[in-house]
Formats: sequence, C-alpha cells, structure tokens
Amino acid sequence: MESLWDEKRAAEIAAQSGDLGLRVYSSQLLGANPDLVLHGGGNTSFKGHSDSLLEGKVETLFVKGSGWDLKTIEAAGFPPVRLEHMLKLAELDSLSDTEMMRQLRLALLDPKAPTPSVEAILHALIPHRFVDHTHTDAVVTLSNSEGGPQRLAELFGDEVLILPYVMPGFVLAKQVAEASRGADWRKLKGIVLLHHGLFTFADDARSSYEAMIELVTKAEGAIMRFAQSSDQEPTKTAAREGIDRGTPARVAIAKLRKRASHTLGAPVLLRLALDSRARTFAQREDAAQLIVSGPLTPDHTIHTKPFGAVFRDDDASGLDEFVECYQEYFAAHAGEEHTRLDCMPRFGVWLERGVITLAPSVTKLAIVEDIVSHTLDAMQVGEQLGGWRALPRAELFDVEYWELEQAKLNAAPASGDPKRELEGKIALVTGAGSGIGLATCHRLASAGAAVAALDIDAKALEQFTGHSSIFALRCDITDVAQCEAALDACVQRFGGLDILVSNAGLFPTSQTLEQVEDAQWNASLELNLTAPMRLLRACAPLLEQGCDPAVVLVASKNVPAPGPGAAAYSAAKAGLTQLGRVAALEFGGKGIRVNTLHPDAVYDTALWSEDILAQRAAAYGLSVEAYKTKNLLATEVSSTDVAEAVFLFAGTRLAKSTGVQLPVDGGNERVV
Ligand code: ZN
Repeated sequence: MESLWDEKRAAEIAAQSGDLGLRVYSSQLLGANPDLVLHGGGNTSFKGHSDSLLEGKVETLFVKGSGWDLKTIEAAGFPPVRLEHMLKLAELDSLSDTEMMRQLRLALLDPKAPTPSVEAILHALIPHRFVDHTHTDAVVTLSNSEGGPQRLAELFGDEVLILPYVMPGFVLAKQVAEASRGADWRKLKGIVLLHHGLFTFADDARSSYEAMIELVTKAEGAIMRFAQSSDQEPTKTAAREGIDRGTPARVAIAKLRKRASHTLGAPVLLRLALDSRARTFAQREDAAQLIVSGPLTPDHTIHTKPFGAVFRDDDASGLDEFVECYQEYFAAHAGEEHTRLDCMPRFGVWLERGVITLAPSVTKLAIVEDIVSHTLDAMQVGEQLGGWRALPRAELFDVEYWELEQAKLNAAPASGDPKRELEGKIALVTGAGSGIGLATCHRLASAGAAVAALDIDAKALEQFTGHSSIFALRCDITDVAQCEAALDACVQRFGGLDILVSNAGLFPTSQTLEQVEDAQWNASLELNLTAPMRLLRACAPLLEQGCDPAVVLVASKNVPAPGPGAAAYSAAKAGLTQLGRVAALEFGGKGIRVNTLHPDAVYDTALWSEDILAQRAAAYGLSVEAYKTKNLLATEVSSTDVAEAVFLFAGTRLAKSTGVQLPVDGGNERVV
C-alpha cells in the first residue's frame, strides 16, 4: 500500500491550522483508501489542548465524531473531549452503553459538537498524541483466515499487540487497558483487534499514518506469499469450465426485486453485477457456502446483514430461504429486549450468473455494493489462505443489534432528508437530455427515485456524470435493439421498472397539409407515436412487476387544440394520447396507471432558442414576454412545471387516477 503523504502539503497545513489540521489531513488520506476505510469504518484522534473560559488550558482529546466519515471529515468532525474525564471512565469496572454515551456528551468541551466516537475511551487510553484506526482489508482478511492470528503474530512480532475479538465500546477499551498494562508503548507500533481492525499511533500525524501504511503493506505482502504457497484444490476457485448460464431474463430479475420489496415492505433497488469479478465468484463451486460465511468486520452487518442469500435458476425461492435463515438466526440469538429487523437480504449470489446487492435507496445500495465487493474479494483470499473464518454469528448478532450501531443507521440518512416519496422506485425517462425530460429526471431523483435517463444525444447525457441516482443511457428510441439494451441495463442496475415517462419527441418544421413531406410525416409518427408504443409494449411486463407502477405520456396541447401547420406533430401526439387511453384500459387490471400530459408553450427547452422565440413573438406582433405568457393565467410555463405534473402522476398522490389527460399550459381558452 502506498503512502499518500505529501510533505509539502502537510507543511502548509501545519503552518495554517496546526495539529488539528494535520489530523484532518491524515484522516482524509486514510479515508481516501477503500482498502482501509469503508463507509464510516475506522476512526482517528489526537490529543492537544483547548482554552476553557473558566479553567484555562484543558487537556483535550479530539476524536472523530459520530456521523462523520474519514474520507470527508473536517475540523468540525473532531469534537473536543476532556481527556481526564475519559481516563477516569476507563478506570470504572463497567459502564453501560447508555451511560457511556451520556458520559461522552458530558465530557464535551463544546456542547454543540457531535457525539464522540464510541471508541473515544480507547483513543484516550493510548498514550500517544495521534491515534489512527482502520478496518484494513489486508489485516482483517489475514485475521479472518485459518491460522490467521498465528500468522499475524509471526508477521508483526513484538511491534504489534494482537488482541482477540471483543465488542467495540467500553469492553474493548478495558481489554486494551488490561493487555497493555506494563507494555512499553514506545516500542509498540500498533494493535491488531482480530476480526475488527488495526490501531497505529505516534506523537506526530505522519508517523502514525505511515505506521498504518507500513503494517498494512506487510500484511498485503504476507497474503501474496501465503496465497502463492497455498496448495488449495484448484476446483474450488477456478470457474466451472464451460458454465455460463448467461444473463437472467429481465422479468426474472424484476420479479425477484418485487418479492424483495414485498419482504421489506417498501420498494427496493436490486443490482445484478455481471462483470467478470462477479461472474468468477458466482461460478465458484463453493459460492453458496461462501456467501453465507460471514462478513469482513462485524460493523458491516448493519449495512449488509451477517450473511447473504443464494439464488438458483430464475425463481425467487432463494429469497424465502434467506428469510427463514434470518428468522432462525434472530430466534437463536435474540433476547427479550430485541425487536427483529426486516428480513430482506442485502446481498446474494445468483449461482453461476452474478452477484446481487439490494437496498431501499440509491445511497444505501452504493454502500452495500462497496462493502460486498470488498467482502467477496476478502473471502476468496481467505479461502486461498486455508479457509475463511469470520466471527461466529452470536458475535455478529451482538453488533448488528447493538443499539449504538442501529443508532448510526437511523441517524439522518446521507441525503439529509427523511424518507423520500419515491425512495426505492425506479423510473425510466426518454428524451432525458434537455427540457421536460431533464427537469423530470431531476424531479424524480430529488424525490428519491433511481432514474434511467435515455437520450439520443450522448453529449447531453454528460451532464449526469457523477450523479448518483441518474443513470445515463444513450438510446435512439426508434431503434428496437437499442431500447432492448437500455432496458437490460436499467434492470441490471436497479432491478426493474416502476415509472415510465415517455417524453422523447420531435417537433417538425411547420408545414401545411399541402406541403407535408412523407419523410417528415413518417419521422414524426415514428418518434412521437410508434417508438413510444414499442417502448410501452416492451416495458409492460416489467411494470407489471413494479411497485405501484405508473406510465406518464408527454403529449401536447396540440391534441385538444391543434394549430395549423403542425399536422404531422398533432396527428402523432393525438395517436399517442389515444394509445394512453387504450393502455389505461388494458393495464388497469394489472395496477398500472397510465396518464397523459398536454404541455404547451414550454420555452425553456432545447427547441426554443432566443432567436426563434423573438421571431415567433414578432409574427404575432407581441413582445417575447407577452408571447410567452399568452394563456389564461398570463404565466410562463416551464419544464419544471411539467416535471411537477409528471411527479404527481408517477408517485402515489394521484394513485386513484388513470386515463387522465392533464393540460399544463397556463390555461388555454380552446381547451377549457
Ligand atoms: Zn473499529
């Protein structure tokens, strides 16, 4: 593992913001490496002073606050805690979790600071100014493999203290205190907590960070050596020859996702990874055993549950088996004080095909996916080292159902919002690159939906790069093969389809009936009518498996109030409207709602440049402003107004309406 320390940068930071600045800097370096820190795993601290109004200088532990991630932590993420208070707590024989959390807040030197990490007492006990703690893949993988503790002891010698697993929190702090009693801390570089992680420490930020990198690098080297010398049977790891069952059918995936949503009691996102890593895992002979064999570290269980599901063929029986196993696991370990969490698996293997991850939101799915990808790699290395030996389920249960871990999960979601209306729902929007389609993508995503954004214009789709909930797919919807590929991609990425927004359209240049060219007529019918029909036809089986499914067709004011010179457009959009009515009739019995919008005079779309707008206004002898607001409400209609109407039909607010045609036009005297 490479050190990311930049001495020049560090010197600048030190000059500007001293040790706290360096603490932030090296914490972010640790957080930047997913092989060290994944989603809230790990914590860091440093010991300094604060100025107290009444007491002057107070010895202070600045330790990671809960809710902060090392990757993005800032100075405000290190609440200042009275060091002496922490050390006195460490002398107690026992301390309940509730009392510990109360004491951690009582010891704060800033009442507005976040609650210190549950490991604060342990950080206080280590008599070095800087303390770094990560859940390093390499060290934990060694620790979780057959003979791991002995290998670690041989590898690290006297420089590192190796402690058996205990629950994090006060008990762990006491364990470290006992084990290190009489130890010469000057000679110690780190502490390995088996099945959990690694602590390093020093009196300066760099040495503590470099010690982490050094020990992890040693562990990585050892894994390479052990793996090379292992005489493991090749049949276990090698992909089963000639077996590639191919991609499961879209509807099979959507059915599985629907069952998972039913198990959770809310819409769920499901991702099916089919890349070579996922396939290699799914084709292992022992994939079904490995997937249930326990996590890298027990704190992952709050995101992933302690074991995965096994899916075979195209049925969802793997889900039922998981639910049963999870219920048994709960019954075996729960006390009276526990309430069972939901029974939906968070990951699984689709044997011989790929790896599945599930979660109720895009943010949570990304967390599960990261953790599972690291876990599956580690398991396979563990097998090469002689066998993956994760913690027993009783210990995993204690962490999964530990109130302090659950509190982490129930803290404000990463998005900062409460559960959003379309969380876990999957939408597909055509013509997503601009105008109404673009506004719709953002509206649905802001309500929590995962959105597949289709557009013919690859350049326009670049604006979605880096957007966590919007999955851009280049697609010419008049091309059947491209639509099929886009649907496959959407379903593999999110698990199905709940909301179809058919928005892509084309407004041909104005031609009177006498002028209409066949090519233009056909192009309008193809894009405005035939392609939406084909897409609706292809989506119907997926929508049937959707959660409260809805279709929204974007037609036009030209349907109820046609204008001269727009025959090709008006006739196609009228056809689309009629298609929507038939679809409402045919799909109603399947619970699929189909509604149609008739927007008018939406000028903030790609079709309308300032020049065209000025020309059109002049043609009516109006100012641009007057032209734009030429409706009963004398108001401008924007893409976001139309997107709001899409959102209403897509969600459940208008759950009892289907076959509706809704104008979004500021009021039109020919329509009213
Ligand atoms: Zn930890």
